[in-house]
Amino acid sequence: MSSSASAARGTTPAAAGTSPDPYLPGAGTHAFRVERYELDLDYRVASNRLSGKAVLHGVTCAPTSAIVLDLVGLRATKVLLDGRKPLRFSQRAGQLVVTAPRPFEPEQPFTLEVRYEGSPRPRRGPWGEVGWEELTDGVLVAGQPNGAPSWFPCNDRSGDKASYRFTVTTEANYRVVCNGVLQSHTPRASRETWVYEQSEPMAAYLATVQIGRYALLALDSGRHGMPVPQSVAVSPALAERAIAGLAWQPAMMRTFSSCFGPYPFPGYTVVVTDDELEIPLEAQSLAILGPNHLDLEWESQRLIAHELSHQWFGNSLTAAGWQDIWLHEGFACYAEWIWSEEAGVMSVAERAAAAWRRLASEDQDILVGDPGPERMFDDRVYKRGALAVHAVRMAVGDLAFFAVLQEWTAGHRHGSVTTQDFIVAVSGATAVDAETLLHPWLYEEPLPPLPLA
Ligand SMILES: [Zn+2]
Repeated sequence: MSSSASAARGTTPAAAGTSPDPYLPGAGTHAFRVERYELDLDYRVASNRLSGKAVLHGVTCAPTSAIVLDLVGLRATKVLLDGRKPLRFSQRAGQLVVTAPRPFEPEQPFTLEVRYEGSPRPRRGPWGEVGWEELTDGVLVAGQPNGAPSWFPCNDRSGDKASYRFTVTTEANYRVVCNGVLQSHTPRASRETWVYEQSEPMAAYLATVQIGRYALLALDSGRHGMPVPQSVAVSPALAERAIAGLAWQPAMMRTFSSCFGPYPFPGYTVVVTDDELEIPLEAQSLAILGPNHLDLEWESQRLIAHELSHQWFGNSLTAAGWQDIWLHEGFACYAEWIWSEEAGVMSVAERAAAAWRRLASEDQDILVGDPGPERMFDDRVYKRGALAVHAVRMAVGDLAFFAVLQEWTAGHRHGSVTTQDFIVAVSGATAVDAETLLHPWLYEEPLPPLPLA
């Protein structure tokens, strides 16, 4: 469908604003923040038709005459202010521009109800296809970094974190999995409604809906004394493979909880799609794997560990801007190395040396602390980012290193973070000047020497 051509017409105030994140031009705004989203979706799997009601509870941050939301490929049909007053709106270039009846003052709370509909589809961009995507028999949503507007109107800025309620109605015999905790499941004749509450603040890109013919299975907690319930949503035909492939995940959870501090959410669910996936995907309190990620080889196990560690680094502590994505990927890669050592595969020191050798043989033309939007997911951000973490460990010693990591995750739990915050955290808790230590790793091209104790 064509969104802008069929969009309702209205006035277009000159308040679209500038992009708060240079890595995502046109996305998100600092003009307001959203404190809570209540998304009520009616979805037909067979025809890929979505009809939605999004209620946004927001607060303005600056005087503004319009509320500009990100919404791509879907047609808004009605916008109400505070549940009753219809507002004028227009859609263009991925934005839903809602005209205020009179200019909003700063710090003014508001509630917008947006009715919208269409056939959601992924967004194409430098990072491939992201957002709402049809599977062979179901749906996958992978929002990173700018896929959220493909299924709901939002402030698509990673630093704007909100609580969510998802109410999703779809055909019977499918399971809907969203972020957070299942509140209710109401079967009716041919349609079923699933309600989830995500109470810890979440960036829009981490919001997700997974739909498939899944059973929900608990992962064995007997041997590992799991800190939180872990489950897997998987079709019965793949259940045995999934349980076998995830056999080490409870131990990963225990290892990471002791290294990084308490797991930050009430539970963790892995969704295994029937379709093969190129890469696993992260969402808050969830990970999405393909059946091709379920073997016990290191390449699969490291991905399972990687996605789990994003619950701390990326989901609980979310980079306020995408230039700091090494705070997600460098730490998640380092978590792989920690699991590698714990599992007896290869020590952290060996992993670090191998990564360093490989980096040394590649072009030195990237700044890990500001890689540019096209190279946000460049493997060097992961590996050299992990080496930057390792450099801190080698400089301060194990005891101080893990204490700093735990202070980092506790002090910024469910918050937004910057590289500067991390530098302050390290320098504040140790005798090391983290700015001097990390600058060559993050903001200079030549590869620093391999960090040694
Ligand atoms: Zn990652």
